[in-house]
Amino acid sequence: MNKIQTEGGEYRYRKTKNIIKLELLVLKTLRRLKNIRHNYIHQITTSLARTKPEYVVMESLNTCGMLKNRKLSKSIQEQLFHEFKRQMEYKCAWNNIKFILADRFYPSSKTCSKCGHIKDNLSLSERIFICDECSYIIDRDLNASINLKNYGKSIA
Ligand SMILES: [Zn+2]
Repeated sequence: MNKIQTEGGEYRYRKTKNIIKLELLVLKTLRRLKNIRHNYIHQITTSLARTKPEYVVMESLNTCGMLKNRKLSKSIQEQLFHEFKRQMEYKCAWNNIKFILADRFYPSSKTCSKCGHIKDNLSLSERIFICDECSYIIDRDLNASINLKNYGKSIA
């Protein structure tokens, strides 16, 4: 940036043409990335709606443990999650699919999908769910999905 002297004698910085050009390029690239992400979400939500399920259950962001991508900032991941939810909700409405939002305190990950036992603790690093009660072993996300399916069934 250029240092310029004002009439009052103080120094100020001024953006050069090159800086302005680079700033525009950054903005353009960010917009392009956002479009790519949104298009990708559109593909997924459309393909899900096309399977014509009876209902779709989603849980709120705080409980779902979806923030796993270390290459994306937390705020971008939150935006993407909300965009995913927004698209899923209206595409469900278009296709007469019931859209259910699980209670934010529903313990989808901590609950054993086989016996219903609820674990006291489950860290995010535990990718395999092992039930303390019935010794059932299942992939963590699959277990949570089955619980959410049953949750939807119980209130659908
Ligand atoms: Zn169990």
